[in-house]
Amino acid sequence: MQSFQQYIDGTFDAGSVQFESLDPATGAPWALMPEAKSADVDRAVEAAHRAFLSPEWAGMTASARGKLLYRLADLIAENAQALAEIETRDTGKIIRETRAQIAYVAEYYRYYAGLADKIEGAHLPIDKPDMEVWLRREPIGVVAAIVPWNSQLFLSAVKIGPALAAGCTVVLKASEDGPAPMLEFAKIFDQAGFPKGVLNIVTGFGAECGAVLTRHPKVAHVAFTGGPETARQIIRNSAENLASTSLELGGKSPFIVFDDADLDSAANAQVSGIFAATGQSCVAGSRLLVQNGVKDAFLARLKAKAEACIIGPPDDMGTEIGPLCTARQRAHAQELIARSLDQGATLVTGGTVPDRAGYYFPPTILDCTHAREADCITQEFFGPVLSVVAFDTEDEAIALANDTAFGLASGVFTQNLTRAHRMIRAIRAGIVWVNTYRAVSPMAPFGGHGMSGHGREGGLAAALDYTTVKTVWLRTSDDPIPDPFVMR
Ligand code: NAD
Repeated sequence: MQSFQQYIDGTFDAGSVQFESLDPATGAPWALMPEAKSADVDRAVEAAHRAFLSPEWAGMTASARGKLLYRLADLIAENAQALAEIETRDTGKIIRETRAQIAYVAEYYRYYAGLADKIEGAHLPIDKPDMEVWLRREPIGVVAAIVPWNSQLFLSAVKIGPALAAGCTVVLKASEDGPAPMLEFAKIFDQAGFPKGVLNIVTGFGAECGAVLTRHPKVAHVAFTGGPETARQIIRNSAENLASTSLELGGKSPFIVFDDADLDSAANAQVSGIFAATGQSCVAGSRLLVQNGVKDAFLARLKAKAEACIIGPPDDMGTEIGPLCTARQRAHAQELIARSLDQGATLVTGGTVPDRAGYYFPPTILDCTHAREADCITQEFFGPVLSVVAFDTEDEAIALANDTAFGLASGVFTQNLTRAHRMIRAIRAGIVWVNTYRAVSPMAPFGGHGMSGHGREGGLAAALDYTTVKTVWLRTSDDPIPDPFVMR
């Protein structure tokens, strides 16, 4: 069996305890992963803290940090194929997607490489004639980055990239479900030439590895992607170290199709929004709100597309739907569907687990037009399951779209320009895609509000989350300080 190593203070080791990682395509163990215990996490944070204060890193110019990030980006691009194969093997995400996504991950590092020496302070036109006052943007400290299994290289790039650009150091905890891509990434990072301890990568379980990391006294910021329940644990942990947090959580994003939409285009976007990545996407357009005039025509197109999806081994370039990452995810989808059917939803297609090894689940559509309170409308599947509700008016569409505790993404399909603008304003979500879906870029902030978390990843402002402001006061007068009992 293949074995992977953790990366602490610039060295690799197998850890004192290992756990088996299962191949989602077969359900069989295929590799041994180090399970980081409290002592490993502590060692990693101490290494990151030493590196943060070291002359090699703290004394490096921002431009030099940027050059190291460019080198890392080049190495990722060169190794994209190998990284994609490992991610596909350990998480079940199809090779067709991992190849393209990892090549694009290099662009995220390039973007933050370029940003490293553009994080500027400010000079204040201060209201005192004998003072110069300016603001320095300084790195916040050691960052704990925590990611779930889906798209780990991508979800870690939007944390590691801005954190290192700002001059922070990082301890990244990979998901216990499919950590191999991050442990392989550690080998690539090691070749880029960063001082030791600048990035440390461990993996292990939430209750020990994750908890020790997020409440560690030397952690200044926690950048988390995962589920809302874990986010609550992390907030409780950060009550210990008072670390700042950014939380990228789940969603139940509305995908709204009006009568005048280009139905072929909308159907492809809906497939991309809910069946791509086997639905394991935080921005999944999992609630289809469709106007009554086109409901039957649109559902017929979607049903045909869902039934034509090629379910197969994730390492086959022809496969469109691979397995879910874990048996737990599949059981969750089955339970939620069963409950929703009991609550009045009707099955349009899918829903039955195929008779084959591995954690496969077919594209599934539930019509909830007469069961608007069903659990499948409010709860995240994180699987290829679409819940459909029909509407008549634009106001009804807005009310349905906003009737959620989440607020991450949304999609609007219409050819009516003025309506598109009204919808953009009315929808409460961090992202609105109009006549497209599931598009991302390093330049575009990404995140939500409510149960979808807070903070944004991507874009210029994300780098500022990894900085703190230092206000500098310098007196320019040679006269003695006047009355010391009066505040200046
Ligand atoms: P999860 O919350 O169970 O786990 C995420 C990570 O948190 C894992 O590494 C896990 O080990 C760690 N963790 C668990 N308990 C912890 C604790 N007490 N302290 C610290 N860390 C702990 O999430 P999951 O089920 O692996 O992933 C799916 C969730 O992630 C979904 O809700 C999905 O929507 C969300 N997600 C969000 C985005 C986004 O950008 N908004 C992207 C992808 C996934």
